[in-house]
Amino acid sequence: MRVPLLDLSDQYRALAEPIRAELDEILKTQQFILGPKGDAIEKAICDYCAAPHAIGVSSGTDALLAVLMAMNIGAGDAVVTSAFSFFATAGCIARVGATPIFIDIEPHTYNISPPALEHYLSASCHRAEDGSLHTAQGEKVRAVIPVHLYGLCCEMDAIHQISERFQLAVIEDAAQAIGAEYSFGGRTAKAGTMGEVGCFSFYPSKNLGAAGDAGMIVCREEAFADRLRVCRQHGMEPRYYHHFIGGNFRLDEMQAAILAVKLPFLDGWSAARRAVADVYREEFNRLGLTNRVSLPAEPYRDRGLPNHHIYHQYIIRTARRDDLREHLTRKEIGTAIYYPLGLHEQDCFAYLGYRAGDFPETENAARETLALPMYPELSREAQRYVVEAIAEFFAKN
Ligand SMILES: *Cc1c(COP(=O)(O)O)cnc(C)c1O
Repeated sequence: MRVPLLDLSDQYRALAEPIRAELDEILKTQQFILGPKGDAIEKAICDYCAAPHAIGVSSGTDALLAVLMAMNIGAGDAVVTSAFSFFATAGCIARVGATPIFIDIEPHTYNISPPALEHYLSASCHRAEDGSLHTAQGEKVRAVIPVHLYGLCCEMDAIHQISERFQLAVIEDAAQAIGAEYSFGGRTAKAGTMGEVGCFSFYPSKNLGAAGDAGMIVCREEAFADRLRVCRQHGMEPRYYHHFIGGNFRLDEMQAAILAVKLPFLDGWSAARRAVADVYREEFNRLGLTNRVSLPAEPYRDRGLPNHHIYHQYIIRTARRDDLREHLTRKEIGTAIYYPLGLHEQDCFAYLGYRAGDFPETENAARETLALPMYPELSREAQRYVVEAIAEFFAKN
């Protein structure tokens, strides 16, 4: 048997007709950029997330970049984020000229650790006379970017308290977590709607994937939403008058239309992913492997939230990760490592002066975690084959 890490062909086949009809219509009208399809998906995402405003953009990366630019974050500023994320989270901070500051993760959820965040801000930063917070090097700390990694929300209550206390904007990197829920201040909130602003990616392999690059920003304040709309068009308002520097961060109509066809199915796909996670848990238990590998934590399972985890990735953990991965590759089972290094260990961030050992939980996770096949249509037989292959590895090793 061959089990790929991800296979979206069944999903496409089921929706091929309505998607082709949408694309045909766009080709006929020749309206490719900022038209009715873009407006419609923005409205649909507002409704889905219960977000006051949504702004379609060209990718998840550009969502983060546009937000930082629209907040006027740049040289002399610092932005705090997780040491364990996809590169874009930190890359965008550096691209606007600000300094990325990394914080270690919680070992069970792989999300930013609120106590570590609190400790950094109170022990390593100081207040200036005007009340603003500064790093030891003097940069002004402007914002925190929690990343809801693998589809599980960060502990947003704690992050909210910390951000209030230190007066930081909260920018959620919800690229992997569209639809994930959290009980936030007594209500059920979706990922992206708990901070000032949230960023989504519709990269094809994300839970809601376009047929190319696309992204979305959701936010609370109307004035900021207006500024983001201007930012995604080079800071231009009216035409050919530029008040600040933006970029070309526009969402195109074809991607918008495809996303609108798919969005109504998202909660069903998330439920199917959770069912896949439940089968993995059953199989790992049945084969007595839970002392050999750690399974994903579900810290919010008992809170009555259907989408307490949306399983963008199914991540297991073992000290034998690299050998296990080789064994699974020989068995034609697709796996991946998200991510092999902490952001502080990336060559391009050497100038920040971090060292190996600075974030032990991140470094352990980078050494020990492995993503197994995960998608809504993954069959029970395929999952059995995967877990039996893992059992075979541990029987021999
Ligand atoms: C995918 C991803 C991004 C970037 O999104 P793109 O659409 O690929 O630009 C940012 N942050 C995280 C955590 C991601 O997983």
